[in-house]
Amino acid sequence: MADNLNRTADQGANRYIDTRGACTEPVPFTRAVIDGLAQGGGLYVPESVPTLELDDIVALADLPYAQRAARIYQLFNIDLPDSKIVELMGRSYGTNFDTDAIAPITSLDESTHVLELWHGPTSAFKDMALQCLPQFFSASAQALRDRGELDHTFCILVATSGDTGKAALEGFKDADGVRIGVLFPDGGVSDIQRKQMVTTTGQNVQVWAVRGNFDDCQTGVKRVFGDEAFAAEFMDGHQVALSSANSINWGRLMPQIVYYISSYAELVRSGKLEAGQLLDVCVPTGNFGNILAAWYAKQIGTPIGTLFCASNENCVLTDFINTGVYDIADRGFVLTPSPSMDILVSSNLERQLFELTDRNADAIRQWMGDLDSQRRFEVDGDTLAKLQEGFKGSAIGNDECLATIKAVLDEHDYLIDPHTAVAYAATQQLRSDRPVLIASTAHWAKFGDNVYRALHGIAPGAPLPEDVAALTGCELNALIARETGKDAIPAGLAQLDTMPVRFTEVIDGGTAAIESAVEALLER
Ligand SMILES: *Cc1c(COP(=O)(O)O)cnc(C)c1O
Repeated sequence: MADNLNRTADQGANRYIDTRGACTEPVPFTRAVIDGLAQGGGLYVPESVPTLELDDIVALADLPYAQRAARIYQLFNIDLPDSKIVELMGRSYGTNFDTDAIAPITSLDESTHVLELWHGPTSAFKDMALQCLPQFFSASAQALRDRGELDHTFCILVATSGDTGKAALEGFKDADGVRIGVLFPDGGVSDIQRKQMVTTTGQNVQVWAVRGNFDDCQTGVKRVFGDEAFAAEFMDGHQVALSSANSINWGRLMPQIVYYISSYAELVRSGKLEAGQLLDVCVPTGNFGNILAAWYAKQIGTPIGTLFCASNENCVLTDFINTGVYDIADRGFVLTPSPSMDILVSSNLERQLFELTDRNADAIRQWMGDLDSQRRFEVDGDTLAKLQEGFKGSAIGNDECLATIKAVLDEHDYLIDPHTAVAYAATQQLRSDRPVLIASTAHWAKFGDNVYRALHGIAPGAPLPEDVAALTGCELNALIARETGKDAIPAGLAQLDTMPVRFTEVIDGGTAAIESAVEALLER
């Protein structure tokens, strides 16, 4: 690692290639972060993945979290100066989190460790990436401007079904050279989620409710991104480019690698693991970003054993791991108590397959083409074998998810959210005698209605009692807190009812309506 600490930016920096082999020239980190998606539709991955010795991994436990993150970024040899990386990480992982540990571990027993990824400002794991990416996004844009490779600012548009929108708003609010607009389906998000978004502070943010469902929002935003005339006018008239900071951005993946390496170090330092002992990891999976980060942590040298991919009833990934066939042709979309995992097209899987095929861009192009045209693809036997060597999958039904919340509270006096419950239940099915780290991806108070159902034996999707249904999200959380004795509701969630509402605009989901709303955002 020492070698990496004394270099200057750009000198021999790691470069990024794309999963479909469409880019003729590898690009530096700063460019990969600004572009998000590579030309030709592929995803960026680093040309080389660095490694760490076990001693160096364990030694990370001596540093504050922000410095651990800086070390990993330096190890990846990104094209920003070391001092800049340290500064940006200090801002990413500081008092914006409600604990110095940033991502603390709670051990339920000797071999079951829960990694709490929800201590950031929005109480969901997206903060781990979205408190960091915007820092590096602004700094990357500045670095490219300084090199004369960029002469505009950005307007980020996000369509959200709930969690991502708020995490993106918190991350990008008041970021240099960026404005952000978030669209959510009017009436289609929980009371807590809506209030989280419409009370966001910051000078560069805007939130719109859209008449329609999440699909209408997402389709509307995609059409705006596809409208080349609009983009050109935007650029000519305002020197602003439209951008989406979605989960395929390498700059969102990299912060997630940090906490897997860091957790291993902490478990060794606290005597819960022997240095070198294999640790299995279970991740509640949607877009495959979080679990892919654990896979990279393993490549870097972290002694991680098997990766458990936990799915809800939208179990396309579990079926894929078991059969090698990714099939969404005849698959309905199911609503579950873990909505952030209700995903059919799992975009980061493309990176995983690229790595498992020893970076065979031809195979990836073929499979992604099949997925587009036939809504299914099938990997070869070799790739399936490699997949099954590293991963196991398990799908958890809605009833089991809620029953698990109750069981874990009864057994361990620990209250978990429905996403974490899916991972906990999958762990019970898949674990061997190795210790397991379970990724906990949201605070329970983000999903109070389903936690209430779980604790009162109400079926998933069934109505709440009238008096409970009449409560605000905050009031319902306070009730659950009283009933369970879990009164530590994060401040950002507990105070939502008293925060001033800043955004009340409801717009149509058509391209023209969104475009004129975005124009207005620029002219503010
Ligand atoms: C986004 C999200 C997930 C899924 O993570 P991926 O990286 O998309 O697999 C799981 N749980 C929660 C609470 C989330 O917000």
